[in-house]
Amino acid sequence: MGINIALDGPSGAGKSTIAKRLAERMGYVYVDTGALYRSVAYNVISKGADPADSTQVCPLLSGIDVKLAYENGSQKVILNGEDVSDKIRTPEISMGASGVSAIPVVREFLFELQKSIARENNIIMDGRDIGTVVLPDADVKIFLTAAAEERARRRYKELQEKGDTSTYEQVLEDIRQRDYNDIHRDIAPLKKAEDAVEVDSTDLSLDEAVEVIYKIAEDKIASKKNGSVQKKHESKEIAQIRPVKRGKKLSPVRMFLYSILRPVVRLIYKCWFNLSFEGTENIPKDGSNIFASNHRSYSDPVFIALPTRVPLSYMAKEELFKQNIFFTWLIRFFGAFPVTRGKGDTAAIDMSVEKLEMGRNLVIFPEGTRSKDGKVGKGKTGVALIAAIAQVPVIPVGINFEGKLKFRRKVVVRFGRPIRPEELAVTSVSPKELKMLKTKIMDAITELVY
Ligand code: C5P
Repeated sequence: MGINIALDGPSGAGKSTIAKRLAERMGYVYVDTGALYRSVAYNVISKGADPADSTQVCPLLSGIDVKLAYENGSQKVILNGEDVSDKIRTPEISMGASGVSAIPVVREFLFELQKSIARENNIIMDGRDIGTVVLPDADVKIFLTAAAEERARRRYKELQEKGDTSTYEQVLEDIRQRDYNDIHRDIAPLKKAEDAVEVDSTDLSLDEAVEVIYKIAEDKIASKKNGSVQKKHESKEIAQIRPVKRGKKLSPVRMFLYSILRPVVRLIYKCWFNLSFEGTENIPKDGSNIFASNHRSYSDPVFIALPTRVPLSYMAKEELFKQNIFFTWLIRFFGAFPVTRGKGDTAAIDMSVEKLEMGRNLVIFPEGTRSKDGKVGKGKTGVALIAAIAQVPVIPVGINFEGKLKFRRKVVVRFGRPIRPEELAVTSVSPKELKMLKTKIMDAITELVY
């Protein structure tokens, strides 16, 4: 018997993308059960039958042979010997699948196939009823949700990339209709298993959602292996935090170099810009803190570093390390470490926690990218995730200047009061706590920006 991870949730919550990424990372087999319902719908529709009419669908089932095959790690859906993996991804088939999935005989027909795959492999299976009906004893159960508008936005973007001409309104309507069908059908309706952990991905980037679910899965699997029986109320409390030891000293050589060079760069910056600092009493004297700032220019990490005595680290896109030698030296000296955008967030989170463990301060720009109009954006949850894992204070920073950054431009850098995860009772990385912490951080940054 393999390890089974059940990932359920409504259409478009990101299940398949997340499940694929997790399967790759954990070395598991990904099983997309929606593809099975889609194949049945495809067969029914291509025979001219109505997928919502059981009297038309049932006689066709005996002529359907559907299999999942794996080629270079990706799942292929084979229907009567034909690879239909791409053909089953149209809006018409989506709606058809929603129709056939409400027919009990169809569910029975696909039930044993799903069970047998789960019996023989370590799997991540996504669907609607995996945690409740197909694998009620799954080792890990996740219920992934997101607001309907956000799910429609994601699906619309995906369809557009494929050249589909559906409008956003049509996609949203489809999603709402399929939600309604899935929730209200009599057999195996979409619902969260009692022992599933709910993850709301509305405000999470893909990398963040993968990270949160990976940590939940790792934790559950580890505690199962250790034979620890979790009490019911604890199943929602995910103990994945690893508080860093504060007060760790950095190497004396590095501190010495930093203490010499910092005033030199500070002088250059003070001559070049009309630069002032406010709220510097909020900067802790020791390291292992996060500075969360709005993002206006490439000089932002330097602006934050100048009044801080402990060297900083910060993530920077790897392209920046391919610029001129002086620039690369400068950003490395001020603690930049490269991140490969798109796939690097997970590694970057580990690296960030490591830097904090080493006693460094960490600068994060939660908006992810520079603001063009000076307004503070929504911000991503990564900053809250790192603060919650490491249990370190977050010092909000507001960088203020008008227009573009140029010679003699007035720049005011403001430091706010530290936000401490433990004071906000953030003691786990549950989505609810992360969302609350992120909101506090973004509100504090916004207050420091004029
Ligand atoms: O996940 P996906 O959108 O590919 O699923 C297609 C349809 O199949 C869903 O709208 C849902 O009605 C149905 N389905 C289901 N049970 C599953 C997986 C999918 O009813 N386990």
